[in-house]
Amino acid sequence: MLNIVLFGPPGAGKGTQSERIIEKYGLVHLSTGDIFRYNLKEGTELGKLAKSYMDKGQLVPDEVTINMLNESVEKNPAAKGFIFDGFPRTKAQAAALDNFLESKSVDVTAMIALDVPEEELKDRLKKRALASGRTDDANPAIINNRISVYKNETAPVKDFYQVQGKFHSINGLGSIDEITTRIFTVIDSL
Ligand code: ADP
Repeated sequence: MLNIVLFGPPGAGKGTQSERIIEKYGLVHLSTGDIFRYNLKEGTELGKLAKSYMDKGQLVPDEVTINMLNESVEKNPAAKGFIFDGFPRTKAQAAALDNFLESKSVDVTAMIALDVPEEELKDRLKKRALASGRTDDANPAIINNRISVYKNETAPVKDFYQVQGKFHSINGLGSIDEITTRIFTVIDSL
């Protein structure tokens, strides 16, 4: 099984690159942000709970997110592998993912991290807000909060995979195609 954690700050391009990776390698794409937004749209209890955190640029609590992710994996028993996008976002989520996959006798193959400078991220999120209508992209205070949550809680997840020898950093600046090529080169070397 090929299980890739696609990692990077908000606006790094994880969603865009995920689409290309799933197409080439036939993986199932699990984006926790997308699953929360779907629940929000459908008005489920999970969606209502998630909204209160997402609107402030905070993380949804680990237990809720981990359970949701595990259920999403269970729904795809025939998958050749997964691309985890936006998960794990805390060290506790990373440890939970390891335990869960171990219970299925599989593991995370690699973390691929998109490296993008902060000013570029802010520019991209502003542009995305116009196209996507995402309220958490439209407000500079919420964007700043998401970036600081990323620095404090999410960036340390890199160390978790680095000590396992699974961490790969990619330059996230350049054309979409250039970045895709860099990612494919890493995946093909695994
Ligand atoms: P971004 O573009 O900021 O990376 P996402 O679409 O991945 O956005 O996530 C949007 C929001 O959903 C986050 O700001 C957070 O509130 C919530 N969220 C997504 N993934 C997680 C996660 N793994 N743990 C906790 N909260 C999450």
